[in-house]
Amino acid sequence: MKIGIIGAMKEEIDYFLRQGTSFEKSQKAHLTIYEGKWHGHHVVMTQCGVGKVNGAVTTQILIDHYSIEAALFTGVAGALDPELEIGDLVISEDCIQHDLDGSPLGFKRGEVPMFSGRSQFKADELLVNIAFEEAVSLKDGNVKKGRVLSGDQFIADSESVDELYTTFNGHCVEMEGAAVAYTAMVNEVPFVIIRSISDKANGEAADSFTIFVEKTAVRSATLVEKMLQRIS
Ligand code: SAH
Repeated sequence: MKIGIIGAMKEEIDYFLRQGTSFEKSQKAHLTIYEGKWHGHHVVMTQCGVGKVNGAVTTQILIDHYSIEAALFTGVAGALDPELEIGDLVISEDCIQHDLDGSPLGFKRGEVPMFSGRSQFKADELLVNIAFEEAVSLKDGNVKKGRVLSGDQFIADSESVDELYTTFNGHCVEMEGAAVAYTAMVNEVPFVIIRSISDKANGEAADSFTIFVEKTAVRSATLVEKMLQRIS
C-alpha cells in the first residue's frame, strides 16, 4: 500500500530518516519528498512545514503527484484535556479548525461556511483502531482517541485552553491536523492524525515545547512505525 507520512517539523520526520531505509528524494513545490520501501509498504514521507496551509498543500501534492492511498500525520501537540501529560498520545477520531469563525454570519465556530459535509473531519476508523491498539501496546503513558483541534496559532495560555476545551471538547491543539484531514477527506483518502503531547498549551508551553519536542516527536513516530507493521 502507498502510505503518506507527514510531519510539520524536522524533529517529526527525523526518526524515519534514521531507520536506514534508502529513500529516494524528489522535490515538489517547497517540499523534499522521501520515497522508499519500509515494512512492506511504499512509503512517501515529507516535512510539510508549520500551519494549516502547509498541511493542506502538502496533502494535496502527495495525493495528486505521489498517489498515496492513506495519510498518516505524526507530530506533537499541546494538551487541552487535563488528564493528558507530556508524552501521552492522542489518536484523532476527528479534527476541527478551531480558528475558523464565521459566527457573525450565523455559522458555528469551527464550521466551514457553506460546506455540504461535516466540519468535524472524521478519521478512518480502521486506522484509528490500529493506532489505538498499537499505542496501548507500547505500555508507556496515557492514550486517548478523540478530537484534534487545529489553528494557525501556538496556544500558550490557560484561558485559551479552558475555552477551547469547553467549546470544542478537543483533546489537544496543534497547527496542521485538520488541514491534512480536510484535504484527505475531500479526496476520499483515509487518514489519521497521531500526536504526542509536548506541552500543555499554557503559560509554560513555549519552554515545555522546546524541552520535549524531540522526545515526544519520536514517540509519535514510533507509533506510526508500529502501525505500518500492522497495516496490510
Ligand atoms: N519549529 C518552530 C515552530 C513550532 S510551532 C519552533 O521550534 O519554534 C509548534 C508546532 O508544534 C506546530 O507544528 C504545532 O502543530 C505543534 N504544537 C505543539 N504545541 C502546540 C501548541 N501549544 N499550540 C499550537 N501548536 C502546537
